Amino acid sequence: ARLRVYELAKKLNMSPKELLQELEELGVSVKSHMSFVDEEIANIIIDLLEEDRGKKSKQPSKSKRESDEEIEKEVVEKKKRRKITLKPDELKLDIIAEKIGVPQNKIIQDMFVKRGIALRPGQILKLEEVDQILKEYKVEVELEEEQAPEEEIDEFELLEKKYQELYEKEKDKLVPRPPVVTVMGHVDHGKTTLLDRIRSTRVAEKEEGGITQSIGAYQVEVNGKKITFIDTPGHELFTEMRARGAQATDIVVLVVAADDGVMPQTIEAYNHAKAANVPIIVAINKIDKPNANVEKTKQELVEKLGLIPEEWGGDTIVVPISARTGQGVDELLEMILLVAEMNEIKCYPEGPARGVIIESKLDKKMGPVASVIVKDGVLRVGDAVVAANTYGKVRNLFDDRMRPIKEALPSQPVMILGFEDVPDVHSNVYAVESVEKARNIVEKRLERLESQKQTKKHVNLEELMKMMQEKDKKILNLILKADTYGSVAALRNAINKLQSKEIELNIVHAGVGEISTSDVMLAAAVDGVILGFRVKVNNKARKLAEQEGVDVRTYSIIYKLVDDLKLALEGMLEPEE
Ligand code: GDP
Repeated sequence: ARLRVYELAKKLNMSPKELLQELEELGVSVKSHMSFVDEEIANIIIDLLEEDRGKKSKQPSKSKRESDEEIEKEVVEKKKRRKITLKPDELKLDIIAEKIGVPQNKIIQDMFVKRGIALRPGQILKLEEVDQILKEYKVEVELEEEQAPEEEIDEFELLEKKYQELYEKEKDKLVPRPPVVTVMGHVDHGKTTLLDRIRSTRVAEKEEGGITQSIGAYQVEVNGKKITFIDTPGHELFTEMRARGAQATDIVVLVVAADDGVMPQTIEAYNHAKAANVPIIVAINKIDKPNANVEKTKQELVEKLGLIPEEWGGDTIVVPISARTGQGVDELLEMILLVAEMNEIKCYPEGPARGVIIESKLDKKMGPVASVIVKDGVLRVGDAVVAANTYGKVRNLFDDRMRPIKEALPSQPVMILGFEDVPDVHSNVYAVESVEKARNIVEKRLERLESQKQTKKHVNLEELMKMMQEKDKKILNLILKADTYGSVAALRNAINKLQSKEIELNIVHAGVGEISTSDVMLAAAVDGVILGFRVKVNNKARKLAEQEGVDVRTYSIIYKLVDDLKLALEGMLEPEE
């Protein structure tokens, strides 16, 4: 609970001005009578003022002196353990209090009275606050490097690291692989129709049963080359994958209906793809409709997204299509192959397989099943596999038409049977030497996660200050949500004025409407902060933000938002309740 200075003054039966004066005499700096004071701090102030009033009228009492002696004793005690070690994640008041052996409340009081620093129990401290505390109690500190002890190494994450090293070191062994494509766009602009159209025209009908059930992705052949489509369109899934550290998509096809133009979700989808640095091809759809306006749609691409079509001198490939009649779809597929070639989509063909889980579930008959897109290597029946939360031995593999196969190649979507448990969707999957090894990795990992029980922490405004001290992280990614387009524009303006040499404020996405899970996932993926202006946070999004440790702040007054940002940039922001 917090109260403002003038409220506190009322409690103390004095005018705000008097209180401010008193506080100044006590060496406490408070900006104005509108400033907030924590309840605990308020109580300390009340105590102090009362003590102070008492002092003015009579000499310090005996008991007071006794307590002075006690404090003296305490200091002697403290001096005995003067050197402590701290890990970077231990910069919390309660932990430091325990380490230096001074009660938290005493620290809060001392810091407030002697140094004018307001702290709350258990608060995460800024480095300068830690510094002040240590100075106050004359404690030396050794900041321990964050180094995981031997048994703490997460072998699962190590598998990914090893693969990334492989990519660095053995570049000459990399070979092209088919592109994996995600279709995105505004609702009803034709994503599903396009995916169905491509699938039905490219899959030979004579195959027994034809198209049966979907495994979450499918592969088609165009001019002898393959393309993989993830058949759940949408940017939410795409970004969720990224936030989990698994990126399956190589190219995004942004569908924009020619009769509707660039709409809010078009912008959102575009920003998600852009944040991921994935090449984008625009498909202007529904050109068969009488009210289709391709030129106007292109104009909107320029105005609203800053995408300039190639034929207008830009570098965005724009293909007019009709998902319904099929017109232009072949050209779109060819463009996908072209972009794939230009972007050198490659894989490491040898070595143990690596893949991404795009769907998973518990099937009544088959047990845990997972759809995977293989990214590197060849996945074979009999391989031992490990995912983030479970492991297994590949019992069966099915291709995208549910035909049993023996092995799956890079970019191939495949369904795996044989996991012990349902693997986390969007986890990476790795083939390892043996099932024992796979089990070992997972058991250790789960044990450790259990003991940590810590949610992943993304950047928040309070940590910005620390971030700024590290040279390589000077960009603060922001996601803005506001009630109207006018507000969005005003926010953009205000934020752009805050740009400084030290830190770049990067607006990853700005949109109208409540803060949704998709915003939270995006923030998690880019390690950004969400600022809402006159909008609500929906319940799911709030929960997700908690889980992901994403900082979400909402405001109803623009200057308050700007003030907070300013304070954050100056490293002076108070933590959010
Ligand atoms: P999604 O929400 O983006 O997946 O959109 P859908 O694929 O479900 O399409 C929405 C509606 O637009 C459906 O009624 C489709 O039949 C229709 N539609 C999709 N593509 C075309 C097209 O190229 N031409 C016309 N005329 N209608 C289309």
